[in-house]
Order: sequence, then structure tokens, then C-alpha cells
Amino acid sequence: MGNVRTRALDEFATHKAERFFVEKRPVSEYFGQNVFDREKMRRYLSAEAYQAVVDAVEKGEKIDRNIADQIASGMKSWAVQMGATHYTHWFHPLTDATAEKHESFLDPMKGGGVFENFKGSTLIQQEPDASSFPNGGLRNTFEARGYTAWDPGSPAFIIDQTLCIPTVFVAYTGESLDQKTPHLKSIQAVDRAATAICRMFDKNVQRVIPMLGIEQEYFLVDEAFYRARPDLMLCNRTLIGHTAAKDQQLEDHYFGAIPSRVMCFMKDFETEAYKLGVQLKTRHNEVAPNQFEYAPVYGEANLSADQNLMMMILMKKIAKKHRLKVIFHEKPFAGVNGSGKHCNWSLVTNTGVNLLSPGRTPRTNLQFLSFFVSVIRGVYEHHHLLMSSVVSLSNMYRLGGNEAPPAVMSIFVGATLTHLLESIEKLTSENLTSISDKEVKVRSKLHIVNQIPEILPDNTDRNRTSPFAFTGNRFEFRAVGSSCNVASSLFILNGVVAQQLVRFKKMVDENMEAGMSQDKAMMKVIRQFIVESKNILFEGNGYSAQWQQEAARRGLKGISSVPEAFDEYISPGSLKMFQEQEILTRREAEARHEVLNETYVKKLQIEARVLGDLTTNHVIPTALSFQNTIINNVKGIKELFPEEYKEMCSTQLNLIRKISGYVNRLHQDVHDMVEARKVANKIEDIGEKAAEYYKNIFPYMEKIRTIADKLEMVIDDELWPLPKYRELLFFR
Ligand code: ADP
Ligand code: MG
Repeated sequence: MGNVRTRALDEFATHKAERFFVEKRPVSEYFGQNVFDREKMRRYLSAEAYQAVVDAVEKGEKIDRNIADQIASGMKSWAVQMGATHYTHWFHPLTDATAEKHESFLDPMKGGGVFENFKGSTLIQQEPDASSFPNGGLRNTFEARGYTAWDPGSPAFIIDQTLCIPTVFVAYTGESLDQKTPHLKSIQAVDRAATAICRMFDKNVQRVIPMLGIEQEYFLVDEAFYRARPDLMLCNRTLIGHTAAKDQQLEDHYFGAIPSRVMCFMKDFETEAYKLGVQLKTRHNEVAPNQFEYAPVYGEANLSADQNLMMMILMKKIAKKHRLKVIFHEKPFAGVNGSGKHCNWSLVTNTGVNLLSPGRTPRTNLQFLSFFVSVIRGVYEHHHLLMSSVVSLSNMYRLGGNEAPPAVMSIFVGATLTHLLESIEKLTSENLTSISDKEVKVRSKLHIVNQIPEILPDNTDRNRTSPFAFTGNRFEFRAVGSSCNVASSLFILNGVVAQQLVRFKKMVDENMEAGMSQDKAMMKVIRQFIVESKNILFEGNGYSAQWQQEAARRGLKGISSVPEAFDEYISPGSLKMFQEQEILTRREAEARHEVLNETYVKKLQIEARVLGDLTTNHVIPTALSFQNTIINNVKGIKELFPEEYKEMCSTQLNLIRKISGYVNRLHQDVHDMVEARKVANKIEDIGEKAAEYYKNIFPYMEKIRTIADKLEMVIDDELWPLPKYRELLFFR
């Protein structure tokens, strides 16, 4: 029989690897086969309908309802031929998950029989009967209507014989209830502001598009162990569990050979990803045992964000086939590295110029500098908001840990650019334009050994401790958590950048009106932006304690409490930016603030409940059973050696006392935590409630865990009911 853990161990031991089909055809033969991409559109749509979609994507033009009928019909023909039976509007409510409600294509025919039907109106708009998504007061149940509307910028795709149509999700009043809407609006805001500046350099620029490459970190655990851990099942992280004697200290997992079972999962996942038109590029072991990463090739931000969510769904499905569980939580295991979702972000023009790539000519340098310093200036202005945008209950277990970016914003730019910015700062108004003549690119070849080809080092060295690092031709926002929808942070990044680009242009225009040449006018603003924002630049070790002090001295505001971070969404400065850039209205920002607090409270409440259950129903009973065994042992020895038993049983007697001590403390702490919840649950105001949860319930998570972990170390291994860290992290 055994306990849950030993049964899971048996299941693991007897599990025979299944033989999985491995796709051997060249990827190019099946790449994108499950996506209604341009190639399919050309085949299934009339020229007019095809052009309408292209114009919608490239010029933001609205699609006429008549044309929508044609598009829907073509889309349906393709989908039905691919075996799809259902369609769904696929949207991203404020939960970090995605939502779908499937409808069959079938319609009855007059006079009997059925046929597949899909109208333009159904493609364009749906009204999901879903009054129970988080909405922060934007939808009361009596006005529960919400609409999903087709986003032609992200092509429809087929998963599980269902045609999924990416959509935005808005309330009856038009207010956004999802992550995609503000992201799309922010992309437009950047486009407006950036294009205006680009056109000062090149009149052919019509559009500027934020580009995004997302590195996704994740853990894999065996399904049998996962099911034996209520905490993993309900909270996606281990709430208790002593660290294994060996975890990542030997640094032998990072980039190590990929375990064969995992490789099998990865291949299977990649094949399906390719069919969905996602160009996965890298895969490797991460630092922590059983931690891995993949990254696709970057693409337009809206599409990249959607594809990332698509991949998260796909990975979970494929893992099931391999009896694995994918864990996207930012810190599933204490003591080893957590997971992030690094967002590589840049701005590219429709003419193919990356605005964050240092140029080879003085002119392109000036353009590069304009954008580079505007990003820095924007991140500085809203550094607290930007950091707050990555805050969640789960990511806060990771941030500021010894391996993850600290919870205070700073920007790393590397030695070359630091030097350049410093030289610009020193310029006087007479020699302002002298520096824009110089080439930024300074690359010298590295000679290693004779037979090894020379290598070209990058302009920027790397700094893994920075939450926001410039990496040669893009910024890498590294603080973003592995489980979130990146749109929730990117709409803020885009917004703060757009705001500064608008300001940049306005100031340049003013300088030119005052008689300056365009180059000089720009250099003057560039210099001013550098002076204003240099406090955010930091090249040192972001993990160090000195940096925390230094950041405070520089007036950089870090995250000290989660609910306080959420308040930044509704600070006057943030609201001004959201409104000016037409990304969120005050009401939408307030709703988001409410949803963030609500989610925080609910998630922490669930964790606290599960921890109470684990302690009361797993840990304490196990401790008492073990204690009984020792008591019986002592009784037996006493019977045999009535004179000497105390001396003989000193270890056992100590252990009996020790266990009683731990059990009593656990019992008391769980009781106190429940009482603290009762107090907090009475609070009406959601912000105050979250603050109360943060202050008076959150600390119990660590307090209780510490004692439970101590018990794990003294109790007979045979009795311990929860799979241990060494099993969760090393069995593969
Ligand atoms: P790292 O070495 O930082 O781990 P990876 O190779 O894992 O890098 O991932 C880098 C990501 O950055 C990829 O998704 C890549 O396509 C993306 N990327 C590269 N250049 C750009 C760019 N100019 N803009 C946005 N993303 C980019
Ligand atoms: Mg990487």
C-alpha cells in the first residue's frame, strides 16, 4: 500500500517510456500548416478579401462587413478541410490565462440535413455569455454583456480540431476587459509617436512596429509526483519541502545535455509549434534542476504575445502525453532559481530599420540616439510603474531572490554606450553636434588561438543582474514573470516610451522654431534626456545589498509591498500617461487596480488554505505517527531495561520532545493564520484587504513552512507523504 508518495514513486519506477511519433519531414514542409496565414488566405480568399485583411493589418483599416462574410467563408473552408468541427473566439481576460467557448460550425439545412456555416458577423463579433471574468466593477451582473471582436493582426489557428480566432474582449461600454486591448492601443501609441520622429529622417517611413522576442523559462516534473502534491496542483508551487542536499550548487544543469525524456517532450512540442507557425529557435537546460527554456524568433509584439500564450497551452497538452507537468510559476521551488519570461523588445520601421540598432553613419546614429535616450527617459520617469507591472503574488517570490532581477528598476547599457552618453552629457551648446559625427559601433576582433577563427565581440557585454538591459540592438526586460501574459507589462513599456517620444518631438520642434538646425535641435534634447534620466543607469551588480542602498539614494522607488505597487496604476502620473497615450481611461485603470488586488487576495487565500491543509492533514499526523513509533520503542526498552532506559533512550526522548515542540508550534501558527484571515476577510475595500493580507497573512507562509521543513528532516523517510525536492527536481 504505502502512502501517496511511495505510490507515486512506484508509478514512476514502473512507468515505461512510450514510443512517440517523431516527425522526420523537413520542418519547412509542414511549418504553419495549422494557421490561416497569408499563404492560405491567398488560396482561400478573393483578391479583394485578401487585400482587406492585409490593409487591416498594415494600415489599421476597418474591414467592411460584406468582406467579412467572404473572409469567414474562406476561413471556414480551410478549417473544415483541416478537420475542424468547431470555432471559438480566443481572448485574454485579466487572469493571465486564455478563454475560449467553442461553437460548432453546424447549422440545420432547410428540409433536413446539416451544413457547415460561418458568417462574417460571427467572425467579427461574439458575445460570450461570461459574466464571471474579472472586471473590476466594469461589468455588474445586471449589465453583464461583453463582446469579443476579431483581431486580424493575429492569424486564426487550429488546435484540437477547433478554429481559434484571436480577439479583444471589451465591455458593453467599450471598456477593455482583457490584456490585448491596451497592448494594441499601446502599439498604436508608439507607432504614432515614433513614426513622427522617423519621418524627420526618412519620409518613406509609414509605420513603426514594436518587436518582441520572448524567452520562456519553465520547470518539468513527473506527473505522478505532481499529483501527490496538493500544493503543486492547486498553487503551482511547493508551499513546503526541504531543499535537496544537492540542487544547483555544482552549476551542472545550465546548458547541460538535455535529458532524453525531456528531449522527447521538446521535439513533440516543437513539431506542433512549427505547425502553428511559431519559429522556435533555442532550447536548453536552465540553471535549476529540471528547469528549461525555449525562445522563438522575435516578431511583431502583438503576434509574439499571442503566440507565447498559444505555446503555453500547447506545452501543457503535449506534456500530458509524456506524463509530465509543465510549471510556469515564477518560483515553484524554494532555494533554486525561479523562472522569468525575458521580453526582448525593439522598434522597427516598415522600411526594415531597427531603431535601436546603433548605426554606421552619423545620420542613423542620431536616429538611434533619439530613440535610445527616449526609452531610457521613459523607463526612468515611470520606473516604479514599470516594475509594478511585473508584480504578482507569484513573481514576488522570485524577484529580489539571489538569482532574479531585484525589485527596483535600473537600466544596463554596457561600457561603450555609457561612455557615449557621458561624452554627450559633457558637450556644450557650441560643440553639440560634434559627437553625432562619430560612429557608435566600435568592434575589435578577438584573437584566441591560431586555429580558432577570430570572433567579433558585441558592443555590449552582458549583465544578468539587470531588470532592463540593452543587448546591442534591443532592450531585454528581464523582470517579467514566467507565468504572466506579457501584454500586461508591454502595454506599459510601450506607453512610457510613446509619452517620451511625443515629448522628444515637441522639444525638437521648439528648438527648431527657435532657429536651430535639426541635428542640433535633436542633440540638445538628447543631451537633456541623458541629464534627466542618468539616475536609472546602473552597470554594477543588481543583486548586491549596496545597490539597494544606492538605488534608494538615487530616489529610485522599489517594490516594498505588493498592494502598494498596484497603487501605482492609479497614481496621477500613471493615469496621465495612460490617458494621454489613449491606452487606458481612468475607469479602466481603476478596474485593473481592483482586479490586481482581488487576484492577489484570492491567490494568497488559496495558498494559505492549502498550507493549512498540508500542515493539519499531512504533516502533523505523519509527525504523530512517527512519534508513536518512538514512544513504543522507548516503552519496549523500558520494559527490558527498567534501570537504564533513560540513558539508553536519550536520543528518542529528545526526539519525542522536539516533535511535540514543532507540532505545537505548527498547530498554533495555523490557528493564528486562520484567525488573521477571518479579520482580513471582513474588510470591504479591496485595496485595504490586499494590504491586510500582505501584512498579516503572507508572513505565515514562510513561518509555517520553516517548521514543516524541519519536521521533514527528522521524520522517517518511509513515512513522509509528500514527494521530496530530490524527487521532484531530479527524477526525469
Ligand atoms: P539570450 O542569450 O538572451 O538568452 P535567446 O537567444 O535565448 O537570448 O533569446 C533572445 C530573443 O531575443 C529571441 O527571441 C530573439 O529572436 C530575440 N531578438 C533578437 N533580436 C531582437 C530584436 N532586434 N528585437 C526583439 N527581439 C529580438
Ligand atoms: Mg535565453
